[in-house]
Amino acid sequence: MTGSTTVTPMVHADNVWKSFGHLDVLKGISLDVLPGEVVCLLGSSGSGKTTFLRCINHLERISGGEILVDGQRIGYREQKGTLVELPERETARRRAETAMVFQQFNLFPHRTVLENLVEAPILVKREPRAEATQRALGMLARVGLSDKAGAYPNQLSGGQQQRVAIARALTMRPKLMLFDEPTSALDPELVGEVLEVMRDLARGGMTMVVVTHEMSFARDVADRVVVMDDGVIVESGPPEQVFHHPEHARTRAFLAKVG
Ligand code: ADP
Repeated sequence: MTGSTTVTPMVHADNVWKSFGHLDVLKGISLDVLPGEVVCLLGSSGSGKTTFLRCINHLERISGGEILVDGQRIGYREQKGTLVELPERETARRRAETAMVFQQFNLFPHRTVLENLVEAPILVKREPRAEATQRALGMLARVGLSDKAGAYPNQLSGGQQQRVAIARALTMRPKLMLFDEPTSALDPELVGEVLEVMRDLARGGMTMVVVTHEMSFARDVADRVVVMDDGVIVESGPPEQVFHHPEHARTRAFLAKVG
């Protein structure tokens, strides 16, 4: 065969709308994220960043448009030209390929770090415990917490808990990772260790969509930053372009606010 090969985007969002009652929160968002790309979503509070992230992995149903993850709808299948909602079990299986890391770490408080890590692989992916444990220990090493396998979440700092949450996400071998302000619940001195783990993932080629207020992370790590305002994308481009030569007044206003 000759000619160029087309790459399937890891995320393909086309004219996505999302309303809560009468409130239109997303108003025609279109965005492709390519495999291996790191995209940071920036924008003022209330602009729709979290909602968009939740729509990507079908934690929210979209009101219009289309979202494909690695070429596939997470919550629907097509049947004779119409979309049919998938059973929850199948949706959960598809969603498991997309890991989400939240502001609050959501670890099970009464389980050890290791037990937190093996839960989903065993229950959702039906992996044998020994195999799940082996990989979980590998992931803990990757986030620098090998010595904490037997600890309970409340024995860890916020930064360590978030690193465990990232390790837990990795145990599912996600194709895509969605981060929703992963450092904003942390004391300032603990932010760096979490960003370092994320930098390491980015260097390793993970496809990432990151909602963040950490401008230095966006500047250094993002391939592309996307600025949202009032439910639309106002600007998108390489960080140096958006930060140094913002085209849109609303981007300039946002950047002036965050410094
Ligand atoms: P951002 O992440 O940019 O701060 P969000 O996506 O969290 O923005 O919120 C965008 C808007 O959607 C806000 O006005 C928020 O109040 C509203 N919103 C978000 N989730 C819901 C919900 N479940 N029900 C009603 N309104 C919501």
